[in-house]
Amino acid sequence: MAKAVIEIENLVKRYKELVALDHLNLTIREGEVFGLLGPNGSGKTTAINCILALLHFDKGSVKVFGEEMQPDSYDIKRKIGVVLQNVAVFEELTVQENIDYFCSLYVKEKSVRRQYVEEAISFSGLEDFRKFFPKKLSGGLLRRLNIACGIAHKPRLIILDEPTVAVDPQSRNRILEGIQKLNREGATIIYTSHYMEEVEQICSRIAILDQGRCVASGTKEELKAMIKIGEKIHLEAEGMTSEQMEGIRRLRHVYQVDYQNGMLKICCNGGKHNLVHILDYMTKEEISFGRVYAELPTLNDVFLEITGKQLRDSAE
Ligand code: ADP
Ligand code: MG
Repeated sequence: MAKAVIEIENLVKRYKELVALDHLNLTIREGEVFGLLGPNGSGKTTAINCILALLHFDKGSVKVFGEEMQPDSYDIKRKIGVVLQNVAVFEELTVQENIDYFCSLYVKEKSVRRQYVEEAISFSGLEDFRKFFPKKLSGGLLRRLNIACGIAHKPRLIILDEPTVAVDPQSRNRILEGIQKLNREGATIIYTSHYMEEVEQICSRIAILDQGRCVASGTKEELKAMIKIGEKIHLEAEGMTSEQMEGIRRLRHVYQVDYQNGMLKICCNGGKHNLVHILDYMTKEEISFGRVYAELPTLNDVFLEITGKQLRDSAE
């Protein structure tokens, strides 16, 4: 098994009486793109700040590269690149100067630094904006600058806290592809988000946070296998009788059947060919049906089944 890059044990962080992290345990291994997925307020940023020793915590321990993390652990910090949730760049420096400044905190040699800054500029697609000041950049470009500043010194561990919030789709894709590229080149990544699609797309392992606790962790396949729901099948059907509904409920793997406004919703727990069995039944019973579609479980279903809540704010 790959070496642990981060080991968090029983981490507790309180803000006065609010428990923001409640005995959090996490191990992140070399080479992973590790996703911390959770709704707003679940403790993602607090966890990141504790990992970086930017926050004092109440209990537990955090080890980074095998060593206890302290506010003055500069040797460890040099190996980490951080992209914080709130964009942190200098307004009075241009794009290129900003990246050079952050890189200069780690890389003293000028010729190496010049090359690293160039690589960060092309990596973030900021070639045409190198002389721009931050206030002239769109939200997406500003995010890309924020990332370029965090990764220019080629850190082995990169921590990104919600780097795609409120960016346009083009910048979002560029950011997600960029993160995968950094990982292929050898960096271990910690990625926090409340967007389940992004986490599914790029993360090799995921921890789901809720109210400061890790409620489940694993690969996306493992997470989906933890829950009962395997497949949701929707069918437009007319005049279903309660006997027919019962008949469907008795089919193998079916555990829940709802029928509302001519739409039949059937929840199946795993298994294959569920749709075939259902359609066979419909045909045998001579029930006419229209549109049919099946949905595989999402990480939202995992979150919903474990916590009883939606991952997504209803506002989104
Ligand atoms: P996330 O990053 O997942 O949105 P946070 O770590 O920012 O979550 O917040 C976790 C909880 O701690 C939330 O309830 C939030 O309101 C609270 N919190 C965060 N920072 C502070 C702070 N500086 N003072 C008091 N409460 C805080
Ligand atoms: Mg946050």
